[in-house]
Amino acid sequence: MSVVPPRDDLRALEGYHSAQVDVRIRLNTNESPVPPPAAWRDAYAAEMSRVEWHRYPDRAATALREAIAEQHGVAPEQVFAANGSNEVLQTLLLTYAGFGRSVLTFEPTYQMHAQIARVTGADVVEGERGPDFTLDPVDAVALIESTGPAVTFLCSPNNPTGLVEPPATVTTVLAATETANSLLVVDEAYAQFAGWTALDLLAEDRPLAVSRTFSKTWSMAGARLGYIVGPTWMVAELEKVTLPYHLDTAKQIAGRLALRFTGDMDARVQQIVAERERVSAGLGGLGLEVFPSGANFVLFRVVDRDAREVWQGLVDRSVLVRDCSGWPRLAGCLRVTIGTEAENTEFLDALGEVLS
Ligand SMILES: *Cc1c(COP(=O)(O)O)cnc(C)c1O
Repeated sequence: MSVVPPRDDLRALEGYHSAQVDVRIRLNTNESPVPPPAAWRDAYAAEMSRVEWHRYPDRAATALREAIAEQHGVAPEQVFAANGSNEVLQTLLLTYAGFGRSVLTFEPTYQMHAQIARVTGADVVEGERGPDFTLDPVDAVALIESTGPAVTFLCSPNNPTGLVEPPATVTTVLAATETANSLLVVDEAYAQFAGWTALDLLAEDRPLAVSRTFSKTWSMAGARLGYIVGPTWMVAELEKVTLPYHLDTAKQIAGRLALRFTGDMDARVQQIVAERERVSAGLGGLGLEVFPSGANFVLFRVVDRDAREVWQGLVDRSVLVRDCSGWPRLAGCLRVTIGTEAENTEFLDALGEVLS
């Protein structure tokens, strides 16, 4: 049998890799360190026992979208949900990017923005952030004017740096995308851990959309559920492109019920934010370069040591963090997810040992 080649433009693609190593303390993929509340499990089990499994799910995911819309004070017609925010972004890029169009990212940022854009056949324009990973809005506007992307991505807080995009930068970039008759997508997978949200800038006559996920704050990475909030005309286009019945019944129930536990989630967010500050201070105390984070993870740079060896030293002590040191622009950098208080203490102790 011969090996059949994929599309020419996909040959150079490497795919998305995140090590799934068997360790005791997993601080590498920014999940919540704790499962959803027990009351959520009970409510979910009760509803699942009543599901009519021989029927297709509600194609419009009406109840889920209503619950999400209520949470953000928008109309259900402004909400599009899918299997993780990655699938949301894929649907958006299939709709607005693709062959002959380009997508703008500001690096370093979430690798999936460029990856999904390329899979849809779009060209990717990589804008640059400064050495401290902040974005110069003047540079950003100039790049939008000169390259005319169909979709521009911001990620706030940004993964993997943790930096929150200032509101003034987002409004400036939004004005430029509007002038270029193109979309601005703000990926807010970690917004609950930060001080402000671009949801406040949404309007029917503005080409702005904000994506969110149940994978982080909502302790539901295992469910694969995410959504985007934007103008109704945009959501209507996404609905034409997505596969029919793409959101299964179980997931619609899981997400809708999760939103009943906003209070629990807020408490967890506060706890993680407090731990984030403690971990950041601990890393600084070890003489590392620490980047200010508005998320549930912290990026830090190892100086005078090989970052890969430090990463391996942590794995040897059964602690897994993300090794970003081989990524462009991130030499020497590791990223740690904020875990439980005990996990964070073990991480800091292990790192202290490795560095001593
Ligand atoms: C984790 C993460 C997501 C989540 O993707 P899902 O498909 O919803 O799990 C999206 N965007 C960023 C920037 C992330 O870090």
